[in-house]
Amino acid sequence: MTTVGIIPGDGIGPEITAATVQVLSAAAPYLTYEYIEIGHLAPGGATDPLPDEAVARLKRLGAAIKAPLEAPRQTGRVVKVTDDGLRVYPSINNAVRQELELFANVRPIQSLPGIGERDDVDFLIVREVSEGAYSGIEYRFGDVAQAVKVVTRQAWERVAHFSFRLAAERGYDTVLFGHKANVLNLTDGLELEVVREVAMEYPEFELRDMMVDALGQAIVRGDVPRSVVLLDNQYGDILSDVAAGVIGSIGLGPGGNYGEHVAVFEACHGAAPDIAGTGRANPVGLILSGAMMLRHLGDDAAARAVEAAVRTALRDGGARTPDLGGTATTAQVADAVEQAVRATS
Ligand code: ATP
Ligand code: MG
Repeated sequence: MTTVGIIPGDGIGPEITAATVQVLSAAAPYLTYEYIEIGHLAPGGATDPLPDEAVARLKRLGAAIKAPLEAPRQTGRVVKVTDDGLRVYPSINNAVRQELELFANVRPIQSLPGIGERDDVDFLIVREVSEGAYSGIEYRFGDVAQAVKVVTRQAWERVAHFSFRLAAERGYDTVLFGHKANVLNLTDGLELEVVREVAMEYPEFELRDMMVDALGQAIVRGDVPRSVVLLDNQYGDILSDVAAGVIGSIGLGPGGNYGEHVAVFEACHGAAPDIAGTGRANPVGLILSGAMMLRHLGDDAAARAVEAAVRTALRDGGARTPDLGGTATTAQVADAVEQAVRATS
């Protein structure tokens, strides 16, 4: 038995979580689940949306599925009161990443049959999420405002090693680093310097680097080679959404956040409160995030079974929710994917 955490989330979260657990139960029957409610809508969440106790449980479990959490309507900010003072985070998602010490967000960008403009796209975006322009350090003096972009050698050694190891594990022979070192000489320049140094330790892999604006164009044109694409926090935030859009619906993209203690798997999209409770939510992004978790747990066969089942269910057409032009409900997609898993195992 392996126990993993489940954060059921807000909006469509509980519906797509149920769909995901249904599919995982077929593919990996040895898994058990511990439900952990966080966020400002959780019981007690108004005073502490991310209790230390929840953070400790997640670290102890080591792996979790997280459905989207809604941002508080007023400020969006999350404030934690600790012994050593106040910690203020720009969002609950940011708070989860920081408190759990997650440093790399991975988003596979892979075409699915018959969906989106291209059918041959295959790369993995690794976004550094611990620092950069989203360090949370901003100042405003009247009509002048500044944001501080923080770049450290330590964080870039960590994420560069992670990217090359991921390339090795997933069978990619290139790491493609996107930056703007021609303009941001010192910050992006340090990133490039460290990535080049780390690359020397992986001579069997090719390191390519590209200006991030040119990379954006390549993503939209479908010209990105099979590779692990490494980006800093802000470029990665923007380009991973652009890339997900090129593949098809926002409801399809999976993701994983990796740290030293724990990995948290979540879909690209938000809580979609506008369609919560209507059965229109596409669960594929979270189901594929579940496959990433299985791979992280070392069960490659189960991960591949889930991914193949999603492809089969989408190809047959019956498992398409309204965002993909279909009429299937969230529960019908879960049934179709579960059946496809059972048919192959
Ligand atoms: P957040 O601030 O939480 O990121 P958001 O406002 O950026 O939220 P989403 O919640 O991702 O955006 O929703 C954007 C649009 O996409 C909404 O119209 C929503 O209904 C739709 N959407 C998001 N996820 C899904 C999904 N899984 N299935 C179908 N539609 C979705
Ligand atoms: Mg969003």
